[in-house]
Amino acid sequence: MRKILIAGNWKMHGSHVMVAELLTKLLENVIPADTIELAVFPPFPYLHGTQALLQGSPVSWGGQTLNPAPQGAHTGEVSAAMLLEFGCRFVLVGHSERRSLYGDSNKDVALRFEAAVKAGLEPVLCVGESLEERESGDTEAVIARQIEAVIDHCGINSFSSAIVAYEPVWAIGTGKTASPDQAQEVHAFIRDKLVAQDDIIGGQIRILYGGSVNGSNAADLFAREDIDGGLVGGASLKADDFLAIRDAAV
Ligand code: PEP
Repeated sequence: MRKILIAGNWKMHGSHVMVAELLTKLLENVIPADTIELAVFPPFPYLHGTQALLQGSPVSWGGQTLNPAPQGAHTGEVSAAMLLEFGCRFVLVGHSERRSLYGDSNKDVALRFEAAVKAGLEPVLCVGESLEERESGDTEAVIARQIEAVIDHCGINSFSSAIVAYEPVWAIGTGKTASPDQAQEVHAFIRDKLVAQDDIIGGQIRILYGGSVNGSNAADLFAREDIDGGLVGGASLKADDFLAIRDAAV
């Protein structure tokens, strides 16, 4: 059985005070991670404080991106080994904001994914189509290209420790959510694609939905067969909102 994962992507939000308050509240309300897992993705400077608070708890954490190089002259970048030193279990790769604002190509995403897997991090591969691509009927072709770039470079076995997040770009931070039917259709497409390569890996991999998930729409989304949790942006910045999403999955 695939365990539901509710993952909070804080993006470039937060402060010392916010991190302490939010994580303390999560810890006060945490439930054993038998069927549901929680994870947070703070900005890099807050990983240390996150580790200090969450170490030994059922809540995991991760980085929002990584550089594929092990070290070197890469000003502003962070390596897989550095994330591991701060206790990260996960790392996001290919978030649509990285793709659109910082030029991450499918090839770049594949290199980051490879570095994460090699280091022992669990990559969360983010894929999704723009509104224009959806309206022109290209959703599946776009998602296929994003996933194939990683399979071609890293091989299907590298997905055995990975998670995929389907995040339609038009639903991120817009308040518009894909309907459960729209989301399930793409999740099934992603799973079928991975099953075609390896039925065990494809059957076991968790596929999260991301795009304006909140406490009101989460239950309907998570009830669908191939939706194994959520990657949550805005609603992960307040403990009550994040916990409402967790509660919708219980
Ligand atoms: C995200 O950043 O991955 C995201 C899904 O954001 P939001 O929940 O705010 O749409």
